Amino acid sequence: MDKKNIDWSNLSFGYIKTDKRFVSSYKNGAWDEGALIDDDMISMSECACVLQYAQTIFEGLKAYTTEDGRTVVFRPDLNAERLANSSRRMEMPVYPEDKFIEAVEKVVSANKAFVPPYGTGATLYLRPFMFGINPVIGVKPAEEFQFRIFCTPVGPYFKGGAKPITIKVSDFDRAAPNGTGFIKAGLNYAMSLHAIVTAHKEGFDENMYLDAGTRTKVEETGGANFLFVTKDNKVVTPKSNSILPSITRRSLMIVAKEYLGLEVEEREVYFDEVKDFAECGLCGTAAVISPVGKIYDHGKEICFPAGMEKMGPVTQKLYDTLTGIQMGRIEDKFGWVREIK
Ligand SMILES: *Cc1c(COP(=O)(O)O)cnc(C)c1O
Repeated sequence: MDKKNIDWSNLSFGYIKTDKRFVSSYKNGAWDEGALIDDDMISMSECACVLQYAQTIFEGLKAYTTEDGRTVVFRPDLNAERLANSSRRMEMPVYPEDKFIEAVEKVVSANKAFVPPYGTGATLYLRPFMFGINPVIGVKPAEEFQFRIFCTPVGPYFKGGAKPITIKVSDFDRAAPNGTGFIKAGLNYAMSLHAIVTAHKEGFDENMYLDAGTRTKVEETGGANFLFVTKDNKVVTPKSNSILPSITRRSLMIVAKEYLGLEVEEREVYFDEVKDFAECGLCGTAAVISPVGKIYDHGKEICFPAGMEKMGPVTQKLYDTLTGIQMGRIEDKFGWVREIK
């Protein structure tokens, strides 16, 4: 199969329209069969629930080419499960998890020419999402929904290697203690936009959000979970019911324990302890791990020992092992990688 004529190594993280997308509609209490379509435009009422009351949720995963030339996706069953959990919290109908995986396969198969070749660092990013589409003016959930998956090729997250970033402890909150922080809802991003624009204006790459209830515990950034490494090489990640359960972070914790033989802990992490960690990274599908070099907290700085030039040694091993499994260079012990024919 011929690949599209795209300069894969110089792609950015932007939207490029691809050939096919999957659409399924929910009406009268049932999902239809769904189909691949060409049209990337959506027509809806000006009063659609998603436009007025932000009833929308999404997922993100990648398809890519392995070293031996297979086209694969990584743990799509967890995206299916997480979307179902998001649906329940948002009073939206669950899209069946097996049908979700089928739809992912259909979209990748139909757009294989857009899956970047091995070694370019680029990937095909898939964006499944669901939203309430019928007119709603009195506040209540929609009755009609669309579930869609589109895809777009994206460039390597770090061009020329992963440089550590600088983040700040935010004065804004991301998620309320019994709110929607644990689901992947557009509303969590809408309210983070002012905080990230503010952080960027001040010269920081990202925000570290603390728990909104006590402002003493580490939660996450706007779109990635934290991993810390202690001075005796234990891998620690914050536990909270207002953190979005990152599939990358959950996979890295298993990699740490089962591939690298490290001790792992998922527990509450107080901000006061952060200065004692040896390494810090941000986990998510986009970058796998972004190393954090420095945390700025109201005039004080926490600088991690690996400095601002390279990842810490444990972070690097975690990164190399997970990307090795994804790219087919390291044995996939747990059946995480799913081939798309
Ligand atoms: C999507 C997301 C992540 C990362 O999750 P992955 O499944 O690893 O991509 C982390 N935090 C938030 C708030 C997210 O929306």
